[in-house]
Amino acid sequence: MSQDFYSFTLPKLEEYLESKGEKKFRASQLFKWVYGHRTLDPEKMTNLAKSFRDNLSEHLRFGLPPVIFEKISNDGTRKYLFDLGDNLSVESVLIPGSGGRLTLCVSSEVGCNLACKFCYTGKQKLKKRLTAGEIVGQYYQVLLKLPEDLKITNIVFMGMGEPLDNPQAVFDSIETLTSTHGFGLSRKKITVSTSGIVPMIPLITKSGTRLAVSLNGSNNEVRSEVMPINKRWPIEQLMEACQSYADETREKVTFEYVLLKGVTDSMDQARELYHLTKKIPCKINIIPFNEHPESGYFRPSEGTIHRFQNELIRLGAQVLRRKTMGRDIYAACGQLTTAQKKTS
Ligand code: SF4
Repeated sequence: MSQDFYSFTLPKLEEYLESKGEKKFRASQLFKWVYGHRTLDPEKMTNLAKSFRDNLSEHLRFGLPPVIFEKISNDGTRKYLFDLGDNLSVESVLIPGSGGRLTLCVSSEVGCNLACKFCYTGKQKLKKRLTAGEIVGQYYQVLLKLPEDLKITNIVFMGMGEPLDNPQAVFDSIETLTSTHGFGLSRKKITVSTSGIVPMIPLITKSGTRLAVSLNGSNNEVRSEVMPINKRWPIEQLMEACQSYADETREKVTFEYVLLKGVTDSMDQARELYHLTKKIPCKINIIPFNEHPESGYFRPSEGTIHRFQNELIRLGAQVLRRKTMGRDIYAACGQLTTAQKKTS
């Protein structure tokens, strides 16, 4: 049976083609055509021997995950829904930023078993861990849809799913996205976000990408309430892993902190958050909750959000309020789902 081309890293493709009796160098030729020249039709790969091209479809498939729909928000954010077959679909969001920044937020799973209470994706049980090809495919499809003068500058693994629950596919996809034979993106422009699977955080360190941690609680009591994973790996262990990442990479950790009215937004919690993170080189992104159906949580008032942010600034934290993008098309943080009835 033929295999999905996009799931192979270059070394894995070399090995695979050799196992089929083909020459190893064919792998880098294919990478150059597909990723370098954006040619997906083997018939157009003119420097490949005809005999190799003729057999290619027996070994490899070059189809990308089809886009079911693309929605554009009033603020320019674009959301894409991809068909993964078997009645499964997944979303990516393209977010414009200042200075020509264009960030693609990709998904790594359909549904998610970690069940963070504020997250729409977490309401669906895990249905599928994506293949590396399905992750690379999200990037490639969006790239092909963009006008030539627009460039995706950053990738964040902050869409549906917990990336460290699907590490093989995530890090293989990063290999292809960053390989000079692949898309040649900088590892520093890729951020992998985790809800706190502590033993796997060294994989992010090793990959040379940036670490973001979905923190959302300044102590174990609150964090365990909104993120059940905290019961398994409590805050102390998480902070230790973050410190190791910062020590080894000399990079800052990004802490994401969702402000939930009456749950995570008090002044005491702002101070506790500062003391929790102050020894770790980091920046804190505060994210006012984006309400979605059945969440049971609410967004704090503007006044509370300002006071919370200002307290962190006063104490000396590097803190940014994440601008809410794509809220009108359910593309904002924590709003992603494959339940199309909610989004269309
Ligand atoms: S926030 Fe991330 S880890 Fe938590 S349920 Fe949602 S997708 Fe899963």
